[in-house]
Amino acid sequence: MKKIGILTSGGDAPGMNAAIRAVVRKAIFHDMEVYGIYNGYQGLMEGNIKQLEIGSVGDIIQRGGTILYSARSEEFKTEAGQEKAIEQLNKFGIEGLIVIGGDGSFQGAVKLTQKGYPCIGVPGTIDNDITGTDFTIGFDTALNTIIDAIDKIRDTATSHERTYVIEVMGRDAGDLALWAGLADGAESILIPEKPHDFNMVIDRLKKGQERGKKHSIIVLAEGVGKGMDLGSKIQEATDMETRVTVLGHIQRGGRPTGFDRVLASRLGAKAVDLLLEGKAGRMVGIENNQLVDHDITHVLTSKHEVDMDMVNLANQLSI
Ligand code: ATP
Repeated sequence: MKKIGILTSGGDAPGMNAAIRAVVRKAIFHDMEVYGIYNGYQGLMEGNIKQLEIGSVGDIIQRGGTILYSARSEEFKTEAGQEKAIEQLNKFGIEGLIVIGGDGSFQGAVKLTQKGYPCIGVPGTIDNDITGTDFTIGFDTALNTIIDAIDKIRDTATSHERTYVIEVMGRDAGDLALWAGLADGAESILIPEKPHDFNMVIDRLKKGQERGKKHSIIVLAEGVGKGMDLGSKIQEATDMETRVTVLGHIQRGGRPTGFDRVLASRLGAKAVDLLLEGKAGRMVGIENNQLVDHDITHVLTSKHEVDMDMVNLANQLSI
């Protein structure tokens, strides 16, 4: 394989740039040409493609976002859209494609692989909701952004003796809420994977108040419900002064942590290795600190499970 393409797709995640850099440098190291495809699958269909050199990826390892931009494309989900994409890949002589993104992006990679274009997926999403890898690129940075925000909120929560509900990202996945809640000693953590008992949330708040606690933090994943609704219900049920903070898109940006930079570098380089070995339709991942690869179709059909030991630990530590 002499010419490969790379694109980022779906929601951006800190560390995607470090992964792009690793792919480009590793491929050039092996005497391959690398083509950057801008704006995800939309840009692929439109031929928004430029060759990347060693210098094209200089000074980006520390930057959040993605220099290749990202887009969501409905057209690419159609047969006609995928044919257009293949025409462009042929035009540029691109023989293999590396796709950095989440499960939606991997669906696209499977379609292209089925049409004869070898694709390798690199898990890049802050949600950490992909099976076959212990961590996705961007999760650690987003987690630390949340922790930093909650630490700051805690100062004002203590000063005013308030209860705070912090709504974090995670429509279907509770990892960000769970890890942040555990790291910040939240009184309750509400995640989509586990039904919660509102009375228990209230019980804990009241018990804490009886013990003389000055503030309480509740971390809520957005997939469970709206922070504002939970905040009003708590205020009604307890009479405690309750405030709500929705962290929103701040969680997707910022300088990637050291962990995410190293993870992205390792996964990006591994993706190039797989193309060189003639593999297709695989996703690279990390399990027990070892690089692994799995069939993408298998990844897409198995559900990411939340770590119930961690859920139980968080419950035990927040008595
Ligand atoms: P995130 O986890 O951050 O949302 P994602 O990769 O899951 O990232 P999606 O918006 O679901 O993000 O998917 C990104 C793009 O992948 C879509 O806009 C579309 O172009 C392509 N895609 C998604 N599903 C399919 C599919 N079934 N077939 C072909 N392409 C798809």
